[in-house]
Amino acid sequence: MFVVQDPRTGVRYGYDCIRCGACCRHAYEIVIRTSDVERWMHRGREDIARGLQVDLKSVAPAALIPLSWYSAHDASREADPAGPERAFVASHQAAFDGLASFLLECHENAGTGGTATGPLVPFWFLPGVDFRTILRPKNLGIVKRGIELGIQYVMIMAIKDACAFLEGDACSIHEVKPADCAEYPVKEQLEREPRAMEKFLAVCKGIREAG
Ligand code: SF4
Ligand code: SF4
Repeated sequence: MFVVQDPRTGVRYGYDCIRCGACCRHAYEIVIRTSDVERWMHRGREDIARGLQVDLKSVAPAALIPLSWYSAHDASREADPAGPERAFVASHQAAFDGLASFLLECHENAGTGGTATGPLVPFWFLPGVDFRTILRPKNLGIVKRGIELGIQYVMIMAIKDACAFLEGDACSIHEVKPADCAEYPVKEQLEREPRAMEKFLAVCKGIREAG
């Protein structure tokens, strides 16, 4: 039996994983680590790049612009709600051009998926991209480079309404699955995504309070 503690309440839960795959359908974000990519490259698993996408939150203006910029440019919001973001991008144009080139040339646009609504501010520095766009890396080397640039990659969930690697109730890459999956759910993951514990309690069939 595994034990997990709710970081919000301190309540401890025990669970026996019965490999039902439910958490792979309702999962929190599965974030890809450099160690995952290196392991896949070492094992010749280039195919896994097909199931990954850029987490657009990690390249959204809101993630890239320091809060101090917003407070310094707050007045311009009245005339143009996106004013501070546009001003920031304009003053860091070379960096945004480089980021846009990397994202658009080294990834393929695999369409849109899911119903998640994004920030009101569009990705105007990424033509043709909105918050639901699935940007899929062309290979694992791209993922490694992207992580170095600060881009976060996650498993594609929006196409099958489940992880791209879930087949039936089973993980088709079980022997090389990401560390995030192998460790699921651990304190770090539960704290990273506020609703992760709530989702885990709702979907996991093997869980019970440990006292
Ligand atoms: S990689 Fe495997 S274990 Fe991880 S979410 Fe996908 S199907 Fe589930
Ligand atoms: S939902 Fe729970 S029991 Fe089902 S695979 Fe995930 S951890 Fe295991």
